[in-house]
Amino acid sequence: MKITSVEIFDCEVNRKDPTMAAFNPVLIRVSTDEGISGVGEVGLAYGNASKAAVGIVRDLGRLIIGRDPMKIEALWEYLFRGTFWGMGGGPVIYGGISAIDIACWDIRGKALNAPICQLLGGRTKDRLRTYASQLQFDWDPQYRRLTEPHQYAEATRKALAEGYDCIKVDPLMIDRNGRRPNESEDSWNFYGILKADQVRMAVDRVRAMREASGPDVDIIIEIHSYLGVNSAKQLGRALEEFNIFYYEEPIYPMNVENMREVADKVRIPVASGERIYTRWGYRPFLEKGALSVIQPDLCLVGGITEGRKICDFANVYDATVQVHVCGGPVSTAAALQIEATIPNFIIHEHHTYALKSAIRELCKYDWQPENGMYRAPDLPGLGQELNDEVVKEYLAYTIE
Ligand code: MG
Repeated sequence: MKITSVEIFDCEVNRKDPTMAAFNPVLIRVSTDEGISGVGEVGLAYGNASKAAVGIVRDLGRLIIGRDPMKIEALWEYLFRGTFWGMGGGPVIYGGISAIDIACWDIRGKALNAPICQLLGGRTKDRLRTYASQLQFDWDPQYRRLTEPHQYAEATRKALAEGYDCIKVDPLMIDRNGRRPNESEDSWNFYGILKADQVRMAVDRVRAMREASGPDVDIIIEIHSYLGVNSAKQLGRALEEFNIFYYEEPIYPMNVENMREVADKVRIPVASGERIYTRWGYRPFLEKGALSVIQPDLCLVGGITEGRKICDFANVYDATVQVHVCGGPVSTAAALQIEATIPNFIIHEHHTYALKSAIRELCKYDWQPENGMYRAPDLPGLGQELNDEVVKEYLAYTIE
């Protein structure tokens, strides 16, 4: 089998939904001379690197034309060692490798007529516990920014009414005036030592959610790395009384000693991973015992090939895995395939963006959890296909 073309879809969903201005999934489709195609995604839909995502697939796509997509390990090594920047690191290069790797796994599954999870060792579970993620944006098909504690309580009730028993919130991201950090010059800084008022804002919101949820719902606190090591300890200690499930990206993951310090001094398990790539990136965090939960994004860490190795590596250190999912439906499908098979899975992330119609319509199947539980698709490969009627308007480049 030989790869004959790579299509790149630059999904500027804000053209249809202006509230999605900060979201831009980049999907790819790899086709072959045997009529089998596979889909992949670069995990840069959020943040500010989506055009770099398009660019890296333009660069790497031309290298794989004529190659055999069934030789995935060899292809991964080629993209890692044969591209110069592959052995340097960073989300753009690994995001491009990831998208190609995922598409090749999709092709492999279709060629062998099996879901990817069957090729990875089979299911260790049939249903995957799932949490409602990023409730500071509400739990609703409409995007909102919540400011008042009673709104956080209401978002909690909406998620629980759908059957979820675990929720995640960033209690700092939206300030009392509805602004995000760095949106204006007088935005709050969370880096040094927090003011009493800043701690109180977060604590009041989490308290409202805990009171709305009762004692048995798991609450994940997400920080998006807004804090520094001192403020992370300060806020973490203030939130300990709410029996928090885990504390996500309390600080940015570029100093493993700082992460270890937070893990040591706060009585909440620490999670991180959406800004950590490959086995080499995870190595110091695991060896230092800095993370209880790893959150590899399969569309950034090096795809399914590398993601599976990272999950197994984490298992040696008793770290559990919540795959990071903040993208289009292809990223969800890839996460479900690997989560269904790894033994150290803890929970699946369902982002509030995954409720929006501009995202749901990108692919043929609208897989959603039921009663807070997901099933990995049973179809061959990833179990997902692009919705050509929708993505044709996002086609940016075809490499042949
Ligand atoms: Mg996160």
